[in-house]
This record gives sequence, structure tokens and C-alpha cells, in this order.
Amino acid sequence: MLSLGIDIGGSKIEAVVLNSHGEVVYRQRHTTEKHSYHVFFQHLCTVIDETRQVLGAPFSIGIGLPGTVEVSNGKIKNSNILVINQQPLPAMLEAYVKQPVAISNDANCFTLSEAIDGAGKGYSTVFGVILGTGCGGGIAVNQQIIDGRNRNAGEWGHNALPRYTPDQDGPPVTCYCGKVNCTESFISGTGLAQRYNLRHNTALSAVEIMAAVEAGNTDACAHFALFQDQLARSLASVVNLLDPDVFVIGGGLSNCRPLYHGLEQQVARHIFSNTFVTPIVAAQHGDSSGVRGAAWLGQTHAAACIAL
Ligand SMILES: [Zn+2]
Repeated sequence: MLSLGIDIGGSKIEAVVLNSHGEVVYRQRHTTEKHSYHVFFQHLCTVIDETRQVLGAPFSIGIGLPGTVEVSNGKIKNSNILVINQQPLPAMLEAYVKQPVAISNDANCFTLSEAIDGAGKGYSTVFGVILGTGCGGGIAVNQQIIDGRNRNAGEWGHNALPRYTPDQDGPPVTCYCGKVNCTESFISGTGLAQRYNLRHNTALSAVEIMAAVEAGNTDACAHFALFQDQLARSLASVVNLLDPDVFVIGGGLSNCRPLYHGLEQQVARHIFSNTFVTPIVAAQHGDSSGVRGAAWLGQTHAAACIAL
């Protein structure tokens, strides 16, 4: 069985077709069309049409995107690709391609990919963490994504930062979602840079700060220790609620080696247990996890539709 996965990001669209062994047999890359929903939709249809022409064989379709499908009306919400918000993308796509299409959050696709044949392979409950521009999360149990009743499962980035104090964490910050002190405002590339620059009156990017950490810069290392503690507190809250078998970390910050130094010991300090044996590991498939997870998601969804 072939599986088409399409990973739609704010700047690019990647499409791959996986065979049953998880090998990539076809790939396309494009710039995301964000000027209007009509152009976006037509472009997506073209990607699928071209894949059909090239392969000449049936395949399942799964899509990962920033945002969520609203339970009540089947429309996209909370996407940073603004033209797709409040649009009935799932129904329109299925009507066009005349087959089931699975659509999920990009963090869920990342988690599914790592759970099936990545760093979370062999573990029953996988909590996937994306530390990139924002802070995403996803939960996979027995290689199935947990969407949740409101399709909100894993959205830990918009929980309040655990054990926040102004003395320790700096002044309160209002998230773009409207809530105060969301975890994402601290443990993300954006949060790291904003909090560092606020404290040191600089204008460094997260990449520059991470380079300074790796070079042993005193200010950067001190701030990064705080960042790591904030991450540990946040992971500990997940342990107290879900206690997953493994944490898999992806996104740009996951490539920073100091992130993992002593992290498990720091999480252990914050949980309600004397025992913490959960591995915290970097993603295996890197930037490809989103598109691979979308393909696996489509395959699972297609099988479920046939079973019905
Ligand atoms: Zn928020």
C-alpha cells in the first residue's frame, strides 16, 4: 500500500509517498500558496493530481498542517496560514479527490512518525515535543494519535508555565492566543530569544543564542539553564498527567546538544515520584517527521474507512 503524506508549513509544502516499508518512493517540494484560499486549494489539488499521474497506482492521503479541524463545523482554525482558517478544507478535498483524506495538526504528525518508526518506536505511549518557532506537542498511544474530544490533546504549549514566579522567570507575558504566561512564550525559539533579549537588552535570534551556549558564553549559558528548567517543569507536568514511556523532541532547538545535558535529572526534581526513568530523546527523522507522519496518518485513516 502506498501512502501520500503532505506536510503544509507556513513557507513550504512537502509531499512524499511512502511504500509499506516506510521508504520514500516519490517526493515533491513547493512554496506554500498563501495569497488566497482558492489558490491554496487549487495548488493542493494539483500536487495530488501530479502524484496520481506519476505513480499510476492508488494511495492513501494524509495531511499535516499548522492548525486544527474544528469539531463542530469541520473547518480549519488556529492556523498561521491565515487564508485557510474558517475554510472547510477537509470536505472540499475529499469531494475533489473522491477518497478519504486525513488531516491533523503538524505536531500530531511528527509524533506519529516518531512513534511508528522513529525515536519512539517500541514504546507504547509517546509524547512528541516540537521546540521550534512555537512549542507543539502530540500524544501517540500504540502508534495511534490521540486527538481528544475537542481535538486539543497535546496542546501543552498553551498551558500556563508550571511554577512560574516573576523573580525566577521574568515579567509576565501575554501569548498571541490571549492567555498569560503560556508555556510557549518561554520554551520555544521565539520565547527563548524574547526572554533573553529582554533581560540583556540585545536583539539576538534563537540560533545566535544557541550558538553562544555551545561556545560557553556566560550570559547565554545562564539563561539557557533557566530555559532548561522551564522545559523540565513543563515536562514534569506531562509526567504527572500522562506519564508517557518516552519524550521525543523535534524542531530547531532539538538539535542543540546542551538541551539534553542533565534534563532527565531536572525533570525528576519536579515530578510527584521518587522514580523517573523516562528517556528524553531527539527525533530520528528530523524535518521529515511531519511529512512521514502525515503519510502514516492517511494510511491508518484509509484502513479505518474501509473497515467501516
Ligand atoms: Zn497561548
